[in-house]
Amino acid sequence: MGRILLYVVLIAAVSLVAVWVAEQPGDVRLIWRGYLLESSVSMLFVLVMACAVLLAFAYQVLNFVLSSPRLIQTTRRNRLRANAYRSLTRGMVAVAAGDVKAAKRAVRGTEDFLSGSPLHLLLTAQAAQLEGNELLARESFRAMLTDPESEFLGLRGLLVQSLRKGDKKTALALARRAFEINPRAEWVLTNLIDLETVAGNWPDAEQSVIAAQRANGIKPEDARRRRAVLLYQRAQIALDQGDEKAARDLAKRSANLKADFVPAVVLASKLLASAGRLTRARKLIARAWQSTPHPELSSALVEISEPLNEFSRIKILEPLMSLKPGNMEGHLALASASLDASLWGAAREHLGEAAKGIPDQRLYRLMARLEEGENQNDAAARQCLLKASRAPSEPVWKCRECGEIANNWVIQCHSCEGVDSFEWGRGTNGPNQGATDELLFAPPFKGT
Ligand SMILES: [Zn+2]
Repeated sequence: MGRILLYVVLIAAVSLVAVWVAEQPGDVRLIWRGYLLESSVSMLFVLVMACAVLLAFAYQVLNFVLSSPRLIQTTRRNRLRANAYRSLTRGMVAVAAGDVKAAKRAVRGTEDFLSGSPLHLLLTAQAAQLEGNELLARESFRAMLTDPESEFLGLRGLLVQSLRKGDKKTALALARRAFEINPRAEWVLTNLIDLETVAGNWPDAEQSVIAAQRANGIKPEDARRRRAVLLYQRAQIALDQGDEKAARDLAKRSANLKADFVPAVVLASKLLASAGRLTRARKLIARAWQSTPHPELSSALVEISEPLNEFSRIKILEPLMSLKPGNMEGHLALASASLDASLWGAAREHLGEAAKGIPDQRLYRLMARLEEGENQNDAAARQCLLKASRAPSEPVWKCRECGEIANNWVIQCHSCEGVDSFEWGRGTNGPNQGATDELLFAPPFKGT
């Protein structure tokens, strides 16, 4: 509206000036090379105006002609860019959908405009991985390392490749570099913790856990567990090197971080007891027993207390029952100790209580010992052993990743290389049917 008003005012002004000029008296004479040109002032005005318009038009035409190559180039470039980004989008979608052909076509589509750019390299690497061309993928990831903008992404690609190949050494170097660039990224922290742990760099691994904790890249509970595990490993090394004091301090720190981490509690209590601090050692075991009643804890309690005879062994174990009343592990430990002391009544009572839980092979083996010891009833003992063969197996240290079973807790599974993957639990879920007939005719079981 404002613009229209401006035009109207402008036209009115020009008309007024034209009328004013036309009304002006007088004429113009021009003598040029012997010619006389005569005209009115208004005609001269019209001529000057026409010349000005002509010149302006000529300038526009010249300007257009001179700038057209650049214009054509810019237009072509814009078209290429639009096509490249369209291909890139299609490529990402194709990679996500697992369409190899479309992904490769998209890579070719990005070559004209985005060749060598981080996005082009990433798409090339992903398409190559999809196709199974790990060599091309690695080359693309490596090329990404030269650009600070894409280095982090390139490191991740190479790290995943190294882990897949089982090349932990290269993976660790890559994770360390990635940590330098971004110490807060979750994938960097979790990989770094595992790789430093697997490499046996316990203090570095612990530092990674602390960094992860600061960056909220690990749950506080998981961080405590991992730090406890690492401190326990350091304690074992100190012990192997004969430095009992350092081992004791490290094991204590581990047990304090994770009161239910049985291997550390057992080691710390044994080292404390050998240093004459029996009360503190017993307290550590008692605290762990309250949350995790574990046969290794009751065994350690007996070992550090050095019982004089079978009866004092029962006295040592009895406080565990008041810490966790009704717990099956406590009853089994006391049943076994009662059998050793030939206290048949007490043994039967504890076995009866233990049977209220999930009876496993240990319970039936102890019952067989009772039948054999109290009544010398071999037939009843064999029946118990038959039941044992059909009962769920006793708890063991078992890898939650691959099911591998170990006698003691270890930091890394020998089978699947899982880190801190051993858990205390049932070895097999179902009854052990295969051993039934064999056990039926086996001699009476001796010992637990
Ligand atoms: Zn495993």
